[in-house]
Amino acid sequence: MKLHITVVAGDGIGPEVTAEALRILRTVAEHGGHAFTYQDALIGGAAIDAAGTPLPQETLDAALGSDAVFLGAVGSNKFNALPPGERPEAGLLAIRAALGGFANLRPAFAHPALAQNSPLRPEVIAGADILFVRELLGGLYFGRPREWNRETHEAWNTMRYTRGEIERVARVAFELAGKRRGKLTSVDKANVLEVSQLWRATVNELAKEYPAVAVEHEFVDACAMHLMNTPRRFDVILTENLFGDILSDEAGVIAGSLGVLPSATIGGKVNLYEPVHGSAPDIAGHGIANPIGAILTAAMLLRHSAGLEAEAQAVETAVRSALDSGARTKDLARGDDAQVLSTSEMGDRIHQALTAELQKQPQTV
Ligand code: NAD
Repeated sequence: MKLHITVVAGDGIGPEVTAEALRILRTVAEHGGHAFTYQDALIGGAAIDAAGTPLPQETLDAALGSDAVFLGAVGSNKFNALPPGERPEAGLLAIRAALGGFANLRPAFAHPALAQNSPLRPEVIAGADILFVRELLGGLYFGRPREWNRETHEAWNTMRYTRGEIERVARVAFELAGKRRGKLTSVDKANVLEVSQLWRATVNELAKEYPAVAVEHEFVDACAMHLMNTPRRFDVILTENLFGDILSDEAGVIAGSLGVLPSATIGGKVNLYEPVHGSAPDIAGHGIANPIGAILTAAMLLRHSAGLEAEAQAVETAVRSALDSGARTKDLARGDDAQVLSTSEMGDRIHQALTAELQKQPQTV
């Protein structure tokens, strides 16, 4: 298969972790005889330095002309004095908006080898494997009217959804739940909010098309508690923009480090893939960043843009094997680990495990 990928590595640790993710994609393509092509483009602080703007037109054109966009991270302390609209992060918001993805997928999972890294007790998180499907283009963050009236000392935002906006993201969640363990938890606040009542009614209507998926509804406050008490009860969690923003960050603690969390935003003109973490200026340039978030993001690209499910699973298995064998970057090391690896050494370990995994699969060339 052919896939043209725009690579916006960005700032700080972005280029360091992106290099490891691309190495993984190249190996998968080589093994399967796939024609993946890559085009580097600038974003964030790197783009301000080179072109005076955090999202140059060439980057936008390249992104919109590709099959998928892989983004490392954006943000640099060097530009802290600039107004928000001119800072590196403005480039990130602008590219997300231009690509138009409405379904933000964020897995939150417990890896047995990292059980001691989570602040939650190992027996609570064991086996937790959740996929958040967060609506990304609607709700309070975009609804109008919105205003801070400085004369009357009032401010207001509007939570607004149309049935169509709910239906399209719910459909993504139902499809994904059908391919996983067949359970969908739709999170709302239908005891208080009309928007949530429409949300719930729409999800119930759609559920008739997906008889194999078991649907439950949960209020957002209860869900926040259950995520910490009994995370294993969840498979796919579908929710609106604000609730999803908060809950997916909360669930990130299950994994034990920000550095291992991937994400994908799908449904728009071009899918956008980015690890959850930022540019980590405190560790950038030292070669110690954890590349696992970026590598698992590459697995999401294989799954959602390339349709290569077996290869995506091979990458995920390779990450598990490396962790099981004791490989740790500094953020994961707990003092008792023998091997604290650099970014590229962790990449090497995952790469070796991936090569072994791929050899178990039939080769197409
Ligand atoms: P951050 O995610 O960059 O870092 C938070 C902490 O986690 C730091 O201590 C960092 O060293 C650590 N960390 C993050 N990723 C890691 C990795 N892969 N391996 C090891 N340790 C890792 O968040 P922050 O410090 O709040 O923000 C730094 C910059 O990144 C800011 O400019 C912010 O605006 C930007 N940011 C960008 C994105 C993005 O590009 N998607 C997301 C969040 C923050």
